[in-house]
Amino acid sequence: MHVTILGTRGEVEESAPGHSRHSGILIDGTLLFDLGEKEYLDLQPEHIFLTHLHPDHAFFVTDPAPVGIPVSGPEAFDTSPNVKIIDRPFTLGPYTVTPIPTHHSKLVRSAAYLVRKGAESILYTGDLIWINREYHHLFDPVGLVITDGSLFRRGGRIRRDAGSGTLYGHNGIPDLVRLFAPYTTRILFVHFGSWFFEDIGAAEEKIAALGEEYGVSVMAARDGMELETGDPVFPRGQSSLARFGV
Ligand SMILES: [Zn+2]
Ligand SMILES: [Zn+2]
Repeated sequence: MHVTILGTRGEVEESAPGHSRHSGILIDGTLLFDLGEKEYLDLQPEHIFLTHLHPDHAFFVTDPAPVGIPVSGPEAFDTSPNVKIIDRPFTLGPYTVTPIPTHHSKLVRSAAYLVRKGAESILYTGDLIWINREYHHLFDPVGLVITDGSLFRRGGRIRRDAGSGTLYGHNGIPDLVRLFAPYTTRILFVHFGSWFFEDIGAAEEKIAALGEEYGVSVMAARDGMELETGDPVFPRGQSSLARFGV
């Protein structure tokens, strides 16, 4: 599968030339995961899958607009677009898209998506605290994980709602590497928080270095980055891994 990372900016005001757009992952020009910018509609995907209804993943939550493309997500949105609930594997041509429940928010439901096409597979998590162990077998193994770069500090920022007991927030990048390293050879981070914009070069280096610690290839993505599934490590020439000779 051919993957285009459309946006890598998280839910922050900060931005930089390579990290100015909100979440969007395009697979084979056909399937779009998250709709953080209205302009992604110009790419005319066949189907859109939303990880959750926060505006940096679904622009229409704060800026309602007709979409004209089928949209699926973990909960309904009854105005425009009309988001259909996806709660089981969904087949579209050669692709099987499996939603996996995630922990992220106390107000909205959230899901990761496992995309399979033949022997190739991608897991895109959206914003993430954790995925329950009962679902891990679904991505054991997976060729590429694309996940949440909101926070670098270990433990992230996770709170518990006093009423419902629901956990909400984002985990730390080292915790997510630890979560996914047993199941994949490549972990790509998107959705960067304020910490990343303080010194982007140093941030890319810190992310890549975690890969060495856990024995996987780990990288910070940029807006517009393209890659292929099937490669065991990130390609040289467009990554901090290459720049630092790792
Ligand atoms: Zn977000
Ligand atoms: Zn969110």
